[in-house]
Amino acid sequence: ASLLEINELSKVYADGTAALKNVSFSVAPGEFIAIIGPSGAGKSTLLRCINRLVKPSGGAIRFRDIDAAAASRRQVRLLRRQTGMIFQGYNLIQRVTVLRNVLHGRLGYMNAVSGSLGLFSRKDVADAKAILHRLGLTEQMFKRADELSGGQQQRVGIARALSQKPQLILADEPIASLDPVASRTIMEHLSGICREDGITCIVNLHQVAMARDYATRIIGIHKGEVVFDGRPGELSEET
Ligand code: ADP
Ligand code: ADP
Repeated sequence: ASLLEINELSKVYADGTAALKNVSFSVAPGEFIAIIGPSGAGKSTLLRCINRLVKPSGGAIRFRDIDAAAASRRQVRLLRRQTGMIFQGYNLIQRVTVLRNVLHGRLGYMNAVSGSLGLFSRKDVADAKAILHRLGLTEQMFKRADELSGGQQQRVGIARALSQKPQLILADEPIASLDPVASRTIMEHLSGICREDGITCIVNLHQVAMARDYATRIIGIHKGEVVFDGRPGELSEET
């Protein structure tokens, strides 16, 4: 059974921009999908439709048993709890510690009140520390997010997403602001999470080389339409 099924999805923004046109594909559990395409192709809109940061104009998106396109507020909350989002700009709370960023990521969904009071259970703290350790951030745990390098901040972004125990990770250009070495580290972590934890990943990328090296499947988007959907080896060397 598929984890995610997208059927004839379209998005027209209020100003008339047709960002997605008839996009259809389904995603099996455990896939590592790279969405590639030039700037403005609609990659970000696609990810945002999946977790309902953007409301689709037409078509259907089914995530497990949730109809994302027509979801109620309660279902949108459920959907976001089960999908971890990773952003190009990391979106961390700059002035608080790395550990707190991870804890807030989890409790933001679960219990906003105790989180805002800074009350976390021992188990939540232990889990967050274990995740940070796994991402190589043991030394950085009690530093403020704004003291970290970009690559380290993005690893915190991954840790925060993981702390939600998501079924699906959506990463929107996670390496676009990073140097080649940090980019590879991030891609290694994401593909490791996919392989070892079975968490399905959909990653927007504009570097085809990265997609080839890490993805199990590549979906090419151009002007809001799917123009390629296949295995990395099927992609022409010239692209
Ligand atoms: P990227 O291409 O790196 O995703 P953009 O610069 O296109 O980023 O978009 C940055 C933000 O501005 C996004 O939140 C996007 O939704 C919004 N945006 C992009 N294009 C428009 C537009 N034509 N009108 C209004 N908002 C836009
Ligand atoms: P990509 O992620 O591939 O760069 P986007 O999904 O950000 O593409 O953008 C697809 C198209 O939709 C672009 O033409 C962009 O300017 C436009 N767009 C994105 N966000 C908005 C928005 N909030 N309002 C209007 N147009 C937007």
